Amino acid sequence: MTIFKKTTIHNSFIENLPADPKEGSERRQVFEACYSFVNTFKPENPSLIHVSEEMLAELDIPENETKSNKFLDIFSGRIAVEGCKPFAMCYGGHQFGNWAGQLGDGRAINIAEVVVNDKRWALQLKGSGETPYSRSADGLAVLRSSIREYLCSEAMHHLGVPTTRALSLVLSGNEVMRDMLYDGNPALEKGAIVCRVAPSFIRFGNFEIFASRRDKDNLKKLADYTIKYFFPELHSEANDKKTYLAFFEKVVSQTQEMILHWQRVGFVHGVMNTDNMSIMGLTIDYGPYGWLDNFDPDWTPNTTDAANRRYRYDHQPSVALWNLTQLANALFPLIEDVEGLRNILSEYKTSFEKNYLNMMRQKVGFLEPKNQDQELIVSLEELLQFSEIDMTLFYRKLSGFEDATSFLPIVFECSYQEEKQFDELKNRWVTWLQDYENRLARENTTSEERKKVMNQTNPKYVLRNYMAQLAIEACRQRRLCIN
Ligand code: AMP
Ligand code: MG
Repeated sequence: MTIFKKTTIHNSFIENLPADPKEGSERRQVFEACYSFVNTFKPENPSLIHVSEEMLAELDIPENETKSNKFLDIFSGRIAVEGCKPFAMCYGGHQFGNWAGQLGDGRAINIAEVVVNDKRWALQLKGSGETPYSRSADGLAVLRSSIREYLCSEAMHHLGVPTTRALSLVLSGNEVMRDMLYDGNPALEKGAIVCRVAPSFIRFGNFEIFASRRDKDNLKKLADYTIKYFFPELHSEANDKKTYLAFFEKVVSQTQEMILHWQRVGFVHGVMNTDNMSIMGLTIDYGPYGWLDNFDPDWTPNTTDAANRRYRYDHQPSVALWNLTQLANALFPLIEDVEGLRNILSEYKTSFEKNYLNMMRQKVGFLEPKNQDQELIVSLEELLQFSEIDMTLFYRKLSGFEDATSFLPIVFECSYQEEKQFDELKNRWVTWLQDYENRLARENTTSEERKKVMNQTNPKYVLRNYMAQLAIEACRQRRLCIN
């Protein structure tokens, strides 16, 4: 019995790119290589918590396979996938604005690469033990953070946000020492392993590491590989400076698209370091992420970033641009066109503003653009902020807007403020709602058409922290486990 049909296994990453000659997890600097072969940690008593039926179907794994020992053995890291050799990727990155040197997959191990129905998927176990890139850490993950990644990546996918996916969640059966509250009181927690899945896990940092070491040969190999497999429309047998510039332009546009989606649904990543930026514009590395409740553009879920708030909600678009600038620097040896790169980067700002406005038009149901939209949207965002309005509830309810008078109490319902506090802003709301009503009257669209677009744009549910927490608690008490 095999989990993957033999014909689906295509090890393009390891077959096309240079390996670290040394194998095993001893910590080291790895030069002139894209990855190191490693062994996954083999837990003695793992158990399956959950499997995504959708990802099973995507990967063409029959559902009854999930009950087999082999399935559990593979997705807990006890055995390797036939025809594949586990490896950890080498990358660097800018963390919180500073170059951090070599980072790499410290707790993620690639276990397979498959092509199913013409779609390429790389499978990684997160929390499957040490690698050369684990530095002083253990390569493990706890149940709490694994559930958060497992649930959120699937939630994001279903909200239409480009993201890595998740196939399985396994309890390792081992305990992991963690200082959950960062208060110097570490305690043992349940260990877990998520199998996450994406066309590719290549990050900006995979390019940056070669550029930082002036290793142009390998930089080129990685760029050629990435273009051939993930940007095939740009690929030719002899990629030249123009190809790499076009590649960069594509990465910029895919990254921008991802950020627009984050802003749309109120997602705050929390750790937008360049090693956490996917070259394909996928949301990757779910750590301290969070979702806006009250619309507070200044909010970040990352407590270690609370002082500077570098990765706060409304800073995400400009951080993405900063990160793209680091990528431009990294790709420069292949492009050598300062002007070309600069033009693409400065275009980001203009196109972001335009696309953001259009995205916001969809959120509020302006299907026929008008000049006054920008102003209306800006004053709405101010009001949402000052009146501490729940972003998700508000936009969802706005699709049922009938008139200014009847909507005012609904606005209040969506606020976290006391009625008295809210009074100060009431007049501004009355004006805004009246302007909104007048603006809608200028639309030739029906309220049904509007409602449809708005409800496709504005999530009904996002994975609020308390929801993830409920799942974590249920799972701790083993109320959610398969066996
Ligand atoms: P992150 O902030 O999660 O993106 O992680 C930054 C770097 O630290 C990456 O190289 C990770 O692989 C590594 N890392 C994070 N947590 C662990 C861990 N528990 N064990 C080993 N490496 C880790
Ligand atoms: Mg990371």
